[in-house]
Amino acid sequence: MSSLEQTLSIIKPDAVERNLDGEIKSFYEKNNLKIIKSKKVKISKEEASEFYKVHQTKPFYGELCNYLSSGPIVVMILEGENAVSNNRQLMGATDPKKAEDGTLRKMYGLSIDKNSVHGSDSVENAKIEINFFFK
Ligand code: UDP
Ligand code: MG
Repeated sequence: MSSLEQTLSIIKPDAVERNLDGEIKSFYEKNNLKIIKSKKVKISKEEASEFYKVHQTKPFYGELCNYLSSGPIVVMILEGENAVSNNRQLMGATDPKKAEDGTLRKMYGLSIDKNSVHGSDSVENAKIEINFFFK
């Protein structure tokens, strides 16, 4: 089954810092994800804590929020057939060491925390995350 969906992608500080945003954007476009909106922003620790609040009980939550607010990020709305699952596949596993060849995290990720990209994990969360950055 296929459906036209939107999902939220974030190019995280480690990738923006290495000027990988152009390459990552063209990777999405080549893989049937159209960039509908894109902006470079720097968020506060409070905003990062709100964005990642589903992880608030996890031991890595504090570091995760520090990290996402540590430098500029690029947030994008991606659109395409099955955009949510397509983007998750293109990203690869959370830990770049476990990510499949050809995925963004395999190509660019530095470590489980500095793993270069974020992608929504469901259509429902995609709507919430898109609304968070693009109201
Ligand atoms: N993360 C971390 N340590 C862990 C697990 C996750 O630093 O042990 C970070 C990592 O940057 C990840 C983010 O927390 O991308 C959100 O975790 P999630 O399980 O939602 O992974 P994702 O959906 O990004 O693959
Ligand atoms: Mg997640």
